[in-house]
Amino acid sequence: MTPEKFPEHIRDHIIPTPSGEMCYRCLGCTETFGIDKLLYTCPACGEVLLLQDMEQNRLKGLSGQTWREILDYRRMLKIPALKGIYRFHEFIGPVIPLESILYLGEGHTPIVQANETLQEIVGMPFYYKNDGQNPSASFKDRGMASALSYIRYLVTSGKVDNVLAVCASTGDTSAAAALYASYLQPLVKSAVLLPHGKVTPQQLSQPLGNGAAVFEIPGVFDDCMKVVEALSEKYNVALLNSKNAWRILGQESYSYEIAQDLEFDMKNKVVVVPIGNAGNITAVMAGFLKFLDAGIITELPKILGVQSHHANPVYQYYSEPDAKKRRFVPMTVKPSVAQAAMIGNPVSMPRVISLVNQYNKKADCQKVFFVSVPEQEIMDCQLMANRNGHIACTHGGETLAGLIRARKEGLVHSDETAIIDSTAHALKFSGFQEMYFEDRLPEEYEVKPQKSLQNKPVFIRPEGLKEVPAPGMPLTGTAFREFVCQTADAIANNLHLSLRDQ
Ligand SMILES: *Cc1c(COP(=O)(O)O)cnc(C)c1O
Ligand SMILES: [Zn+2]
Repeated sequence: MTPEKFPEHIRDHIIPTPSGEMCYRCLGCTETFGIDKLLYTCPACGEVLLLQDMEQNRLKGLSGQTWREILDYRRMLKIPALKGIYRFHEFIGPVIPLESILYLGEGHTPIVQANETLQEIVGMPFYYKNDGQNPSASFKDRGMASALSYIRYLVTSGKVDNVLAVCASTGDTSAAAALYASYLQPLVKSAVLLPHGKVTPQQLSQPLGNGAAVFEIPGVFDDCMKVVEALSEKYNVALLNSKNAWRILGQESYSYEIAQDLEFDMKNKVVVVPIGNAGNITAVMAGFLKFLDAGIITELPKILGVQSHHANPVYQYYSEPDAKKRRFVPMTVKPSVAQAAMIGNPVSMPRVISLVNQYNKKADCQKVFFVSVPEQEIMDCQLMANRNGHIACTHGGETLAGLIRARKEGLVHSDETAIIDSTAHALKFSGFQEMYFEDRLPEEYEVKPQKSLQNKPVFIRPEGLKEVPAPGMPLTGTAFREFVCQTADAIANNLHLSLRDQ
């Protein structure tokens, strides 16, 4: 649908033009800084930053109803720049001109209702939001679309040139960074640092395939992160880790999509996300707060953050009920099947603390909760979900396990509806499924397979057959008919099939 066909009262707003005034705001000293330069930490005090639109109040110039109509009608536009996360341009990066926007098909991932079997097990209605259906198969594409659109804007307006984008990664950040940077080459090149042996073969193949320089380093993610920080302090590189506030901004789209897909009705909704470096949960809270502020939603949903027993520093921080006594202690992580969340010292912890405060205050009651789940439940839940029609990754198993736990702890109730995040595609983490099926998960994961969830291929080669086909050596005639017939019988026997009525 083209703009002139839209209702008159929204026609002028349907295609956004650059607006607002964005700046970095420090979460430590509250100082603000212009966005002409790439900043990651506060030049004054070293704390992390968030992006803020100094003119956000202008968004209140339109009613919530008008905004909802604008966003719904925008769905019908065919303009690539507005097809992804920038459908929410005024909230995601209002200063970025449409020509700078990089759209590779990210965002607007489906929410899929759980079937009756699963809803009965959990004891409440819920949906999976399949963020594995993003272009590089994880939610990280949302933040990368934002960060690289901003970098493209800086490059085309002559503020920077020859960008080398670097990141440390538990796998998915580097996959997304390499993909988005490769689209902009040669203006932007990328280099990624991975903990050796701590990303899956699929995740390693992604940045390699997109032509990034890939470095593997001993240790875990937290060690990689320190090296990348050292690089960015000393050398001229653009940091694409979630220290980069543009990534958090792009990830807010997750909340906007949930709101829009549920007709902007957040009453009795629970949004469940896994926590690693804590960028995602930060963005999810920030997004709902912005929509509330603009009157697009009238209530905040509950937020449930989930961590594994093996990497749960955020959960531990909040397990102290007295806010004044809380102290953040980084932890040494143990191996986790939710490998992308295996982080003991989350970069965005100050952001979480700040946003949880704001969120609960705005809601006038506690709306953000945290649970911790054992590795066993993460794996069991992932496999159970996928046996019921989903494509959950291990982190999607973690959110389901977290929801079940929150039900048991009385944090969520049967009259609520949950939207749980499968942050990546199941295929990225299929190695864990394979090890579970074959009971080969190393002991430190503390996972033992349940028989009812195991599965393995059955090799069929009837003993009576003299010949079987092979590549380049097909069978013909009687030998082929024998092969087909005996193989079919053997499969029927295995499946206990009864004969068709003649
Ligand atoms: C990065 C990642 C997470 C953790 O998200 P944070 O923003 O670091 O908390 C969870 N799941 C997957 C698949 C990821 O790639
Ligand atoms: Zn500061």
